[in-house]
Amino acid sequence: MQKKITLSLLIVFLSMLIVVTVDTFLLGNTEQQASEKVTEPQPETQLRAIDPHHALLALFERSGSDSDDVLADLHHWREELTRQPQTIERIFQLWIERNVARNLKQHDQIVQLDHELWEIATDEPVPWLEAKLYTEKATELLREDSYQQGVDSIKRAIEIAEEHHADFILLESYNTAGILHNALNQLKQSQLYFSQGLELGERFPDSDYVGRFNNNLGLLFVHLEQWDQSINYLLKAKSFYLAPERNGAAPLPVIYFNLSYVYSELKNVHKAREYYQKALKYINSDSSRYLHIVADKAKGRVDLLAGDGIEAEQSALRCLQDVGIEKYPKQKGICLYLRSMALYQQDQIPEALSVVSDSIDVFESIAHQRWLIRSNLLLAKILQANGDYQKALSIYQIYHAKERSQIIGEFHALETAFEVRNLEKERDLLSVQNQYKDLEGQVVADRFKVLALWLTIALLVAGWFIVRSVLDRRQNKRLRALSYLDPLTGGGNRRLYYQELRQPEILNNQWQYRVVVVDIDWFKHINDKYGHDVGDEVLAAVALKLKSRIDEEELFIRWGGEEFLMLVKEREDFRAFAQSLVSVINHAPFVLSQETLNVSVSVGVSSSYHIDQIRHDSSAFAKADKCLYKAKAHGRNQYVIAEDFAD
Ligand code: GH3
Ligand code: MG
Ligand code: MG
Repeated sequence: MQKKITLSLLIVFLSMLIVVTVDTFLLGNTEQQASEKVTEPQPETQLRAIDPHHALLALFERSGSDSDDVLADLHHWREELTRQPQTIERIFQLWIERNVARNLKQHDQIVQLDHELWEIATDEPVPWLEAKLYTEKATELLREDSYQQGVDSIKRAIEIAEEHHADFILLESYNTAGILHNALNQLKQSQLYFSQGLELGERFPDSDYVGRFNNNLGLLFVHLEQWDQSINYLLKAKSFYLAPERNGAAPLPVIYFNLSYVYSELKNVHKAREYYQKALKYINSDSSRYLHIVADKAKGRVDLLAGDGIEAEQSALRCLQDVGIEKYPKQKGICLYLRSMALYQQDQIPEALSVVSDSIDVFESIAHQRWLIRSNLLLAKILQANGDYQKALSIYQIYHAKERSQIIGEFHALETAFEVRNLEKERDLLSVQNQYKDLEGQVVADRFKVLALWLTIALLVAGWFIVRSVLDRRQNKRLRALSYLDPLTGGGNRRLYYQELRQPEILNNQWQYRVVVVDIDWFKHINDKYGHDVGDEVLAAVALKLKSRIDEEELFIRWGGEEFLMLVKEREDFRAFAQSLVSVINHAPFVLSQETLNVSVSVGVSSSYHIDQIRHDSSAFAKADKCLYKAKAHGRNQYVIAEDFAD
């Protein structure tokens, strides 16, 4: 029973160990697979999972521009629904209502809807919605020119979206973050977010944000006067919006104007004009005043570059006379600057001086450092042309230094941004590598542990078998010994005798042996007179005395009853030995527990034989027995040896 339990436990344990081993060696990388990042599915995808043609999808699309009909249809959808709406449906429902409210500029309604959306985002919870709402809030703050608060909000959005891999929100969040930092003149962070967005955009090549990131980075480098970089990004943005599915979308003219600007800065008249003309194709009477203003500005710049001062002044004047110009002070300042340049080119120095002073006033009013530097440098140039060297020199001294520090500062910021980005990338890579190494190390350690466990078990099992076999052998030996012994006298029994003849362990094949049979005289009387117990005592005592006469390579057997058989090595004077057997018994009375009595034995001794002979031939025994018989017949208490008579 106990063995069965042990065996069952052992089997269970080994099965478990095999499972662990297979897991460690073959499936060791499951954790790795599990830890791979899972991107949150887009909300539209979640809706499609409910119904590929979900009514809310179309409604959401329409809600961007439509108003009343959308709400009616939304209401209808809700009425038709026989079950409770799922969370994603509730979100879409609210968001559609929010879009409509935004179209209708119902501010209170938006606040109310936002409140309900926040509740879902935090109660359910829906992290991507939370990120989206923070992003929305940041965009709102951007519109209100509360840039710093906007940054706080967008940072929270990015944090949540990154944590939950809501990439579709992240694109929007990075863009808003980039714009906010740009507005704060924190170019480093701005560039960082746009680049990050662009990187993420690689996984969403069709997203509108890919175009926006390229465009924004292009503008950022325009701002920094890094023309090559700028062209690179602007061209990418251009290709993006020129793609058939986007069919020359809204940002294209601005991108072309920027390209024209960059090439005019590079003094490439041909390209500057080419891009200006391309931009013009997208401008008509419906276009915004801003675009018209920028178009005139761009034209003026190209004209100046081409050396056509008159045409350039006309373009600048058109820009300055635009009905919307007061809303865009920076554009106004630039157009004044261009007009001054045009006048300067035509050698109309006093007019140029007056106009450049106007531009400086405008830039001062909006505290635009970069344009302040530029316009002051132009002022110095005009003063110089006017012969006002002293004044010109002092302006140069101030603004050259400013320009240098401004440019160096911005370059530095940007370079730092690249450095930070690279460092962050390296750090990310390192941490991924370290994680992988840790994981690898762990797998190796696990495998080692399992191997060590196997080894320990193998050793334990081996040890167990060794101990078992030793114990078994000892037990067998004990049992065997017991089965060969006569319990009363401690001598061997007949089985030992035959066993020794077959496979001598005590006896030695090298020797010749004699068979000696010993029988206690008148033993029946002892039994009769003193009782069976005393008889037993006498038997044991006689056996002990006889045994003391033989050495370790000789055999003492209780043959049966009160008769013993001994196999005694041949020796020079065997008679003396036979006599010693008789004497050792009759020499002194037996002192037993109750009695003292005289005992004698009769001894019969065969001639000498090899063990094999004794085994195969019963005559040795017969000879000894015959001698015993003779000893009895001759009066007992004596020995008779085979040599005493011939057969
Ligand atoms: P003798 O050999 O001298 O001719 O006479 P004897 O009395 O010894 O011969 P017999 O063979 O007639 O008697 C042997 C007796 O030994 C018979 C039996 O009761 C007794 N005996 C045999 N085995 C045992 C034993 O194990 N214990 C005791 N107490 N007596 C035994
Ligand atoms: Mg007898
Ligand atoms: Mg006898």
